[in-house]
Order: sequence, then structure tokens, then C-alpha cells
Amino acid sequence: MRQADVVVVGSGIAGLFFALKVSRYGSVALVTKKSRPESSTNWAQGGIAAAFGSDDSPELHKEDTLVAGAGLCHPDAVDALVREGPERVRELIALGVDFSEQQDGELSLGREGGHSRRRIVRAADLTGREIERGLLAAVASAENITIYENTAAVDLLMATDPGTLGERCCGVLVLDADPGDAVPILARAVMLATGGCGQVYRHTTNPSIATGDGVAMAYRAGAKVANMEFIQFHPTALYPARERTFLISEAVRGEGAVLRRRDGTAFMDAYHPLASLAPRDVVARAIDAEMKRTGDAFVLLDCSSIAEAEIRERFPNILRETAERGIDMLRQPLPVVPAAHYLCGGVLTDTHGRSSVPGLYAAGETACTGVHGANRLASNSLLEAIVFAHRAAERIGPQLSVTRMLEPGLPPHGSAGDGPDDVSIEAEREAIRGLMWDLVGIVRSDERLAEADLRLRAVSERVNGWWATRRPTPELVELRNVVQAALLIVRCAMLRKESRGLQFTADYPYRDNEHWLRDTIVVR
Ligand SMILES: Cc1cc2nc3c(=O)[nH]c(=O)nc-3n(C[C@H](O)[C@H](O)[C@H](O)COP(=O)(O)OP(=O)(O)OC[C@H]3O[C@@H](n4cnc5c(N)ncnc54)[C@H](O)[C@@H]3O)c2cc1C
Repeated sequence: MRQADVVVVGSGIAGLFFALKVSRYGSVALVTKKSRPESSTNWAQGGIAAAFGSDDSPELHKEDTLVAGAGLCHPDAVDALVREGPERVRELIALGVDFSEQQDGELSLGREGGHSRRRIVRAADLTGREIERGLLAAVASAENITIYENTAAVDLLMATDPGTLGERCCGVLVLDADPGDAVPILARAVMLATGGCGQVYRHTTNPSIATGDGVAMAYRAGAKVANMEFIQFHPTALYPARERTFLISEAVRGEGAVLRRRDGTAFMDAYHPLASLAPRDVVARAIDAEMKRTGDAFVLLDCSSIAEAEIRERFPNILRETAERGIDMLRQPLPVVPAAHYLCGGVLTDTHGRSSVPGLYAAGETACTGVHGANRLASNSLLEAIVFAHRAAERIGPQLSVTRMLEPGLPPHGSAGDGPDDVSIEAEREAIRGLMWDLVGIVRSDERLAEADLRLRAVSERVNGWWATRRPTPELVELRNVVQAALLIVRCAMLRKESRGLQFTADYPYRDNEHWLRDTIVVR
């Protein structure tokens, strides 16, 4: 049996930053289910928002965040985000992350939709990759951190705390890389930093690791989960998708690109005063409406107003990726469609990363800190990850020496033979992704949600049957979590009888502040 003072699940920005911070206080076991850089963090293009500009302030950043959040942001969490954000970004720089600078050596700040000022700190259009590189290098030289790659967390370990007589999370059951056995890792505290759940949908910008594992594990362990209905659909993913949809960053519209129908007419003026720079949910719904109205499979993003030199300097990665697909973005408009992009809800935490289960913490996309409310302001997610990972480390660290290791019971799973086979698992995954896209996508209704719920329950029953009897595999672990995350999205969407932020339902098309100016909280 392994043990460490703290177990961290996930090697994206939240898990790595947290591990670095908490390792000053004790030993850290960091488990990650694939190779260490595989994360959404590695794909983040646009940047990380923080008030550095001479015309900017934390108050203005807060105002923009609250407007995007459509009444549901927790003001104390947003306050922590905007006030502590610049210091955390300076810490990334001190760790060796190389952000783009102007000629005078000041940070080069980009502008994105919903931000009233230029405040996007970036590393060209590969910001996430640079952050991930810098953090992994720092973690590699940290003595107190052991990384276990190709090791998937399966379930949380719970035990009765003799001090409080309540249940406490005291470790994680993991699937060992080789030979694939389920083994417990005991700890005084557990941090879930497993990212989002975009893989629940047919079209997504998220990498394959984004299967909602943290939210599903926390829910099974009895933690409160909140606001799962608020899925952000990125308006502009390149069409057609290859194995993974390629994102065209919002920053391209920030620099002047315009959305047009296939006949060349611009349409965003009809939907929002900020036209192509309107908040993401407005743009995604507008594109969805245009595609449904015209029957076209995509709309166009016209970048001709951006100077060639600017495109080459600011968007070298987008230029390269589109060229590889035979599109010359300097001369042709880009075909784009919306795709599931970001989970605003997740494991409900306070402003120190604490979940409702003692000993269990969450940070990054897995957590619902209250920062995003009903809609995330672009580039606030990388910032949220480091601000709240830091706060959690500062909360957990000093308590480690007075927190006992507990002996948990092991969560149940099957042990007989192999299987189900890969084809059965893939068929279930495809069915979930298709029905979530068709029935629980950008525009919802009571009828569609009820249908989705019914079909997901049938899948869940089959998966639970496999889980109870068969030996767990990484594929079965993910399928079990994908169906759980999908059910949680549907349950929260069914509860919220209004349209707000990222939830739009045809049956309740308006905001209902009298009944719904609150989080949607569910517990097992
Ligand atoms: C294409 C794209 C572009 C984006 N652009 C921006 C941007 O410009 N600015 C911005 O602020 N945000 C952006 N985002 C969002 C942002 O990148 C993510 O919200 C953020 O990186 C999430 O970080 P994280 O540490 O929470 O999770 P991730 O970076 O996704 O890391 C999750 C980690 O958990 C591991 N994991 C998952 N399940 C398990 C398990 N069961 N056991 C063990 N390990 C597990 C994964 O392997 C991975 O290492 C973008 C996202 C995408 C997909």
C-alpha cells in the first residue's frame, strides 16, 4: 500500500501548481492517467486574464467577470480571483514560464470577448503549452513530488474520522499502469484536478482525457456538485473536425475577424451590440440559429481585416494548423462550428478549494468555485486554476502535521475476467456523445432532457453491471465517469427552469430571478 501526505489527481495547470505549492509542507503523490502533459491546459491558446494594463484594475476585471456570469458568480470568489491573479501570474513567470513581451519588456496583453480592457497574458497562441512546459520542469526538480503516469484514479477512499466521527476522504484507489491492478494510495488530503468533461459531447475542443472523472468520483463519494448545466460551447471550432476538433481562439475575433454566412453577409450585428465580440454563449447560439435557419453545416470566420504580419506573429499555430488542412487563412475565410469547450460547474468548493466532504479538495475545471457563475469570461479559467490551487495549498499545508492517516475500506468493483470488449465500450461512448449533442446541446427543452435522462439511465445500468462483475480497465473507468457526468448535466439542466448564461431552454426562454438566482446543487 502506498501513501503520501497529499494525493493530487491530474497534471494540468491546477494539479501541477497545487503540487508545487503544497510540496513545501509535505510529500505529494501526483497521479495522472496518461502521459504527464496530456491535459486541456496543454491546448489552451488564448491566454490567462489578469489586470496588468495601466488602464486596467481588479475592479474592472471583476465587473466584466460578474457581467459574464449572469448573476450567479460568487462575489467573494471573484474578488479573490481578480485581486490575487496578477501575483500568481508573476509566480508563473518566476517559475520560468515565458510569456510574450512588448519591445519595452512589458507583458504583451491581448483582448478577448467580454473583456473591457486588454488583459490577456499570452505566449503567442500556445499559452497553455508554455505554462504546462514551465510547470512540468519545476515539478521535475521538486524533491517532495512523485509523479505516477498512466495511473488512473478510480474512486475516492473514505473512512470514519475518530475525531469527528464523520466520514473523511483519506486517499484514492488507482489503476496501476502495469499490471493494471487497483491499488490504494492513502493520504491526509486529496486534491482533484482532473479537468473538464467535454468528451461527453460529440463535438468538443477538449482532449481525450476530459471525461469528467473528478466530478463523478466526488459525486459517488457524497460531495456536493453544482451548476453542471452550464457547459460553454466554444463558437468557433474548425470544420470539419479531425480526431480532435481544432479551436480557433476568440482572440482572432478580438483582433477584428468577422463572422459571416456562407453567402458572405455578416450576421452578428443582428444578435448583439458587440457583434462578433459578443459573449461566447451569444455567439454560439447565434451560429447555431444561423446553421439551423440556412441548413449550412458551418459558418465563416473572415480574418481579412487582420494584417498578414499580425496573423503571423499572433496566431502562428492557427496559421500552421489550418494550412495543414489545406486552408490559407491569409486569403480564405475559415469554416467554423460550435463545440463543447468548458465546464463552469463541478465539485462545489469554498474559496479555499474545500469540497463538502472533509479531506477532499478540488481545483481547476473540476471545481465549481463560484467564479464563473452561469458563464465563464474567456481566459479566466487558467487564472482560476492557479489562484484557487494556491489558496487550497495554503489551507491544507499547515494542517498536514495534525491530520491523521486513516485506514479506509476499499470501494467495490468487479474482479472476474476481462471485458467488456473495446467495441462495446466504444459503442456506449458514441451513443452518449451523440445523444448529449442532439438532446442536451446549445438549445434544450424539457422533452429532450427527459428523453436524454431515460436513455442515459439505460446505459448507466449496463455499465454498472459491468463494473460490479468485470475487472476494471482504464476504458471502463472512463465510460463509467462519462455516463455519470452526462447524467449530472441532464439532472442540473432539468432542475433549472429558466434560461440564463449558458443554459438556454426553449420551454423557459427568460431569466427567472425570483426562483433561480442561485446555484443548482445536487448530491447523491
Ligand atoms: C482547446 C482549448 C483552449 C483553451 N483556451 C483557454 C485559454 O486561452 N484561456 C483559459 O483560461 N482557458 C482556456 N481553456 C480552458 C483551460 O485550458 C482549462 O480549463 C484548464 O487548462 C483546465 O486545467 P485543469 O488543470 O483543471 O485540467 P487539465 O489541464 O485538463 O488537466 C487534467 C488532468 O487530469 C488528468 N486526469 C483526468 N482524469 C484522471 C483520472 N481519473 N486519474 C488520473 N488523472 C486524471 C488528466 O490526464 C490531466 O492530466 C482552453 C481549453 C481548451 C480545450
